[in-house]
Amino acid sequence: MPRILIVEDNPINMKLAARLLEYAGHEVLQAEEATAGLCLARERQPDLVLMDIMLPGMDGVAALGELRADPATAHLKVAALTSYAMKGDRERLLEAGFDGYFAKPIRHKEFLAGVAGLLAGNPEAEQGRDR
Ligand code: MN
Repeated sequence: MPRILIVEDNPINMKLAARLLEYAGHEVLQAEEATAGLCLARERQPDLVLMDIMLPGMDGVAALGELRADPATAHLKVAALTSYAMKGDRERLLEAGFDGYFAKPIRHKEFLAGVAGLLAGNPEAEQGRDR
């Protein structure tokens, strides 16, 4: 069963993403801020991390940097989960080193398809490309 870590401070977004992923048969780990997320990533080695960008304290881009800098987590797949839907954000986030990009609000079918693609190792998997 694929294990997915969601780092998201918005309880509504967290609940929706967690329910969708659990319904799809994934094990879901949850963290409301980056520091807790980094600990879970190290200890539980998720198959995919979904990282919100706007977080209290350390933001998602900085958290990605921490994951990449730590040999215990450098290899993990990490996708941005962000309400930024402005043109250019996708490119900016992929350049920052994210393996994928999901725009909020989450669109159920595209979200699950994108997650499945990332788990299968498809670097093009993403949602929100045309937003
Ligand atoms: Mn947020």
